[in-house]
Amino acid sequence: MLREAVAAAALLLLSAAVFNKVGPVQGEAPACNQTELPCNNATCRCSSTDVPGGFELKNTPQFVVLSFDDAVTVSNFPFYEKLSKNVNPNGCEIKMTFFVCHESLDYTLVHKLYRMGHEISTHSVSHKSDVVNYWRNMTKEMWTNEITDMKTMLINYGKIPADEIVGFRVPFLEVGGNLMYEVLLENGFKYDCSWPSLKYTPWYTEFGGEPLGTLWPYTLDYMSIQDQTVGTKPTDSFPNMWVNPMTDMQDNRGVECPMLDQCVSAEDELETSAEAVLDLLRRNFNTHFYGDRAPFGLYTHHSWFLTDTLNNVTVRHDGFQMFLDYLKSFPQVYIVNVHQLIQWVQNPVDVANIAEFGPLQCGNMLPDMCAEADNINCVYNESLPIDQSQVYMKICEGPCPAAYPWTGNPDGVKGMANFTPEKIRKI
Ligand SMILES: [Zn+2]
Repeated sequence: MLREAVAAAALLLLSAAVFNKVGPVQGEAPACNQTELPCNNATCRCSSTDVPGGFELKNTPQFVVLSFDDAVTVSNFPFYEKLSKNVNPNGCEIKMTFFVCHESLDYTLVHKLYRMGHEISTHSVSHKSDVVNYWRNMTKEMWTNEITDMKTMLINYGKIPADEIVGFRVPFLEVGGNLMYEVLLENGFKYDCSWPSLKYTPWYTEFGGEPLGTLWPYTLDYMSIQDQTVGTKPTDSFPNMWVNPMTDMQDNRGVECPMLDQCVSAEDELETSAEAVLDLLRRNFNTHFYGDRAPFGLYTHHSWFLTDTLNNVTVRHDGFQMFLDYLKSFPQVYIVNVHQLIQWVQNPVDVANIAEFGPLQCGNMLPDMCAEADNINCVYNESLPIDQSQVYMKICEGPCPAAYPWTGNPDGVKGMANFTPEKIRKI
């Protein structure tokens, strides 16, 4: 009798897992076979180098995906504002994705970026630097705190609408396997953009063979074919959860770099020559544009440009802008954020129709829900979870939380200020 009850309960659980679209489907995800397991682009796509929509390469828009990580501050905001003035061939200003984390983040400036039409995504609360002991040993609770508390703070302190925060990038690209995707799926996220690929690029070859080409964004309904160069690969099925692969660039030494900051050049020429910066970006872009037409991901940090300040030059700023100007010579090249790219994959249109594609339209500046008169700069100098004697947190409106908000305590409730990730782990 007991055995039957257990079996019935197990069956119930199994069917709940299969039909429950919110949680993952436990057990190894099946291989994606487009003929036997039809996926429609709108909510499900096999990991594949096939062009969405089946367009010929010459009719496929070329996307350049632009993102910046970490805190938005008074010192880097003017740079982002200036960059935003670049326009796509349809005359609309370009949109980028900002993967933001909590420390030093000016929530009022994040709101400004949001109003300008940029995408605001999460990049964890703590961004702790201990990869080996921290990011590789995360419990589900820790993932939940890092991912959802950041979302909560963007909603509460930056007035970003909850349903517009759909993306995540894990610090150090340390992909967290099934647990990380489980938390993303259960908390209303639509995509992850943390997962570098070396094997699926337009340039890398193994044993002298042909390059495999680039993976377009895909979902984790079925087992991914992507190589895992950093972190742990998810093996369960995560219905409707998109992955935007970070296709490795090839630096001027021939070595792979998933983010621009990691690209290195002989004799520091990326610090001394704007032409070298342009060459690096143009060469990698061209492998897509004249090759597989898959998106060219240009992922970086504002800190990469600070080398200019240290060296009292404008090399990186100039080279980067020269590259964006180079792109303007192509009517089929669009600079987009990650969500815009995924929206296109869900509903692809060809080059002839890309100028009118809904998510790429100009739109007006969004209403200000973070009026300057209400902004408040909160200051904290006790019981801090980070190694600082004082921290500021500029938010849209008061009152300031009683304690500095952190993982496990996004509301900044007094007495919970020391509820740091380390303590969670010991519980
Ligand atoms: Zn980061």
